[in-house]
Order: sequence, then C-alpha cells, then structure tokens
Amino acid sequence: MALIVQKYGGSSVADTDSIKRVAKRIIETKKKGNKVAVVVSAMGDTTDDLIDQAMSIDGNPPEREMDMLMTAGERISMSLLAMAIHAAGSKAHSFTGQQAGFLTDARYGAAHIKAVRPKRVEQVLDEGEVAIVAGFQGINEDGDPTTLGRGGSDTSAVALAVALGADICEIYTDVDGIFTADPRIVPTARRIPFIDYDSILEMASCGSKVLALRCVEYAQRFDMPLHVRSSFSHRPGTLVVPEGVDPRTLPNLD
Ligand code: ASP
Ligand code: MG
Repeated sequence: MALIVQKYGGSSVADTDSIKRVAKRIIETKKKGNKVAVVVSAMGDTTDDLIDQAMSIDGNPPEREMDMLMTAGERISMSLLAMAIHAAGSKAHSFTGQQAGFLTDARYGAAHIKAVRPKRVEQVLDEGEVAIVAGFQGINEDGDPTTLGRGGSDTSAVALAVALGADICEIYTDVDGIFTADPRIVPTARRIPFIDYDSILEMASCGSKVLALRCVEYAQRFDMPLHVRSSFSHRPGTLVVPEGVDPRTLPNLD
C-alpha cells in the first residue's frame, strides 16, 4: 500500500463543481489501495480577494491580523472538499495547519516551517479515511496562525509528505506538468516528462514559476519524488525523481 500526498492548487478547486471533481479523483486514488493525504489551496482567487478586502480597510494592516485573515481561505476549501468526499460516499477529515502539526517561526506572511508533527493526520489515515490539510499555514510559538508566503501550499505538501514518509508528493495544477515554456502562452512549448531538482531550481530562478522554489529545495533535501500533473486530465505530467530512483517504481502514475 502506497502513501500518497496530493496537493490541489486554487485553480483545481475554483468552484464547487471543481471541488466535487477533485473529490472523485481522491476517492479513485484511495480505491486503488493507497492511503491519501491531501493538501489544498484556497479556492480560485480567494487569497487575492482577502488581500483586497484588507487593503480597502487599512493600507498597512497588522501582520498578525493579515495572517489570521489569509488562513481563512484554505479553511473554506478544506472543509468543502471533506464534505464533497462524504457526499460521494467516502470518509474524510479536514485539518487546519495547526491541527496537522505545522509549527513555524514567527515571520507573519513569510513563515518558515520548523517542524511538522502530523499525529492526527496519521490517525485518520490509519482509520482508512482521507486526511485533508489546509496548505500555506502553520502556527508560531504563541499559537497564532502564520502563512508561508504566496504559493506556499506546494511547500506544505512536500513538508507533509516528508513528515508522513510518503512514497510520492503529487502536485495537481491546471497544466499537464512542467513545460519548456508556459503552454498557456507559448503553443509550441513541450512537456518535460522527467527532470531533476537542480534543473527546476534553475528554471525557477529564471522566473519560470512552475513550483514554489522552497518546495523544490525541500523535496531535494529529503529526496521526496514529485509528480506535477493536471487535475483536469489523466495525462502523465512531469516526474521529479531523486538520483538512483527508477521512476517506474513510483505509485499512481496512470
Ligand atoms: N492560497 C495561497 C496563495 O494563493 C497559497 C497557495 O495557493 O499556495 O498564495
Ligand atoms: Mg492560491
């Protein structure tokens, strides 16, 4: 039985129909005999909308209150996704970053993960349920919510995968993996089926934003294989595999 962490970005859970579609995909993965923990981003433009609302009240809002607000986005998507899984006949439990054991430093808006202690997530997985974890958030030493910086859910997913000892971390987005250029802009862009961590880090430092830089560094440090793929298709995507690992041995490639 493989242990798989799946991360769904904002575009994959933009509305309730998308949330139902993602719920089906999670259940499919579980029915193949895998344990599945999910990290989810806020729906669509929710995070930007929350920032706009804050700015319309105070151009320089207190950082603590800003993170209190921003963490609300992922609470919405995580609970709706858990409900969609229940509605489709399976069981799921959602967790905030705090409940999932994400401890960070105190830098509001740009916090670094210090430790992940996902005890409750493990319990739920052992009971045969799906665990849904809010991305992009943790708590500081005072117990106050913190956020990891924009796009931080990728890093949450890899950190959770490492803490759980997962076999793979799948990053679901709205394109079929990592391309030689942005396929939404450059029609001749080609999908890269396999790539190593260093090459992605290079692409990222050239401004190509496929994955959050910190997420790739984290995956490289702990040799966590990544599969970047579309939540809208079953096409293969891009595999990022540590040296010496045969990609064909990884779970859930279809
Ligand atoms: N919702 C957060 C953002 O939009 C985190 C993420 O999507 O990864 O930046
Ligand atoms: Mg987002």
